Amino acid sequence: MTEPVISKLKALLGSNGYRDDPAGIAPHLVESRDLYHGKTLLVARPRDTAEVAAVVRLCREAAMPIVPQGGNTGLSGGGVPNEDGRNIVLALDRLNRIRRIEPENYSLVAEAGCILAQIQEQARNHDRLFPLSLGAEGSCQIGGNISTNAGGVQVLRYGNMRELVLGLEVVLPDGQIWDGLKSLRKDNTGYDLKQLFIGAEGTLGIVTAASLRLFPLPLEAATALVAIADPAAAMALFNRARGATNDQLSAFELMPRIGLDFAIRHIEGCADPLADRYPNYVLIELTSSSPHSQLDPILEAFLAEQLDNGLVLDAVIAKNRGEAKALWRLREGLVLAQRQEGGSIKHDVSVPVAAIAEFIAEATAAVTARLPGIRPVPFGHVGDGNVHFNLSQPVGADRGEFLARWGEFNRIVHDVVARYHGSISAEHGVGRLRREELGHYKAPVELELMRKIKAALDPEGLMNPGKILPDA
Ligand code: FAD
Ligand code: ZN
Repeated sequence: MTEPVISKLKALLGSNGYRDDPAGIAPHLVESRDLYHGKTLLVARPRDTAEVAAVVRLCREAAMPIVPQGGNTGLSGGGVPNEDGRNIVLALDRLNRIRRIEPENYSLVAEAGCILAQIQEQARNHDRLFPLSLGAEGSCQIGGNISTNAGGVQVLRYGNMRELVLGLEVVLPDGQIWDGLKSLRKDNTGYDLKQLFIGAEGTLGIVTAASLRLFPLPLEAATALVAIADPAAAMALFNRARGATNDQLSAFELMPRIGLDFAIRHIEGCADPLADRYPNYVLIELTSSSPHSQLDPILEAFLAEQLDNGLVLDAVIAKNRGEAKALWRLREGLVLAQRQEGGSIKHDVSVPVAAIAEFIAEATAAVTARLPGIRPVPFGHVGDGNVHFNLSQPVGADRGEFLARWGEFNRIVHDVVARYHGSISAEHGVGRLRREELGHYKAPVELELMRKIKAALDPEGLMNPGKILPDA
């Protein structure tokens, strides 16, 4: 049944355009958390949009499901094929050209397979900033960023991926190419179709290129690590910092002491920048595109005032880029080091910014009541109301037994999220990991609308089946 279409795909793509050997396919079947192991008949690697469209048309004729895949750094299993193996993976890595840069228009057009860091660099070469920034930026692709509506550490200032897209080119499930690559700031000509594909995790079509929004390149930055008592103090500091820093706050990241301990213990180059231990920290960064904005003195004066009134317990301001990098290394190290501390059950949630501290306190109490010794590591982009409420296993517990309780702890934490009218996925998406939770928490009317959109665009259900939408 599948033989003829696979042969046709190979003939279309040529020998550089696919992998069907076990070693070549293997990396496409697993994801960074190692939760899913899929199967596939072929990894197609088309070289341009026309080839993507041709692949989609051939697959449609044979009712062959397609799983789009970018850098495969996603954290929800969305890019991994299902276990039945009756699908192809469509890898976008060969669509890796920057088609044009328009510095005067503060925009550039990139193909879906461009690595995020490559886009940042190209923008920088033209004195522009592409502000999306996240831990996986050296390997994730812009098509994946768009399809997951990625967030990261600068959302506070520049918005999510959704805010950074001016236009899209998409291969639709029927094989048509939609050229929506406009670079306009204003366009009120009916439904904003590009929004449908942003955050759709490959379930509505294949993003092949995007027109992206650029900003003036920051010329100054001031970075500090600030010790505080608890998340409530962090949020009080956040509110004061926004006003006191001329709206130049670009990052505000919460790190609990346990996270810092993990990073220092396991990640090379991570050291405690303060003499004493404190319960919580925030990493603050101000940036400005003016070389005369005096960010260091502004940050210093602000922190001195907050030390005086007792909100801040201690602080260190980076004296140069190297010191700033070392502070950021703690933040990134905290993520990587969790793996070394045994099993970790992840939550990527958001609540209204004003409710962050209460949420963390309530969720911590709830999970600790269920399993004494459990080690919550609530960290992340709290300035956006986003907490990565990760739970490390109790010291000495069995990893497998702990991870087997993933669903149970999800429900405990997500119930607290729901009470605050929050979201069970702030930035990592639904993929396979949160399908059931989505079905549980989304209002029926929302689920019905989502299903109608899916059916309208992809009536045969061939685009990344089994992702996002729970089974009806
Ligand atoms: P993939 O993992 O390949 O795919 C993700 C989803 O998009 C899948 O459903 C896939 O089918 C679909 N897809 C991919 N490309 C296309 C396309 N061209 N057209 C249609 N569908 C497509 N995420 C954040 O939001 N913020 C963070 O701060 C953050 N930090 C991270 C740190 C680390 C260390 C790691 C490993 C991941 C992090 N992530 C973060 C998650 C991840 O990097 C992002 O979700 C990223 O946007 C995924 O891009 P990708 O190219 O790897 O996509
Ligand atoms: Zn994050």
